[in-house]
Amino acid sequence: MNNMNMDKLPNAYPTTTVSLINRLKAEKCEMCGATGKLTMHHVRKLKDLKGKTALEKRMIARKRKTIALCGNCLKSTHQR
Ligand SMILES: [Zn+2]
Repeated sequence: MNNMNMDKLPNAYPTTTVSLINRLKAEKCEMCGATGKLTMHHVRKLKDLKGKTALEKRMIARKRKTIALCGNCLKSTHQR
């Protein structure tokens, strides 16, 4: 009984919703939303992001050094 109570998050954020969001994040390109084979693009430091491209702006907004990209978006990142 105690374990069940500990698993519960506040009502505003049901556990099922959280895990669903995380799954979608992991399976979709974070730039164009394409599904399929994704590659994690990452920078060494957030400071390295200049915000020149939509990709960098998104990473800065999320304060994340990694972002899941599909093949097309990854290509355009490296061909600047
Ligand atoms: Zn993409």
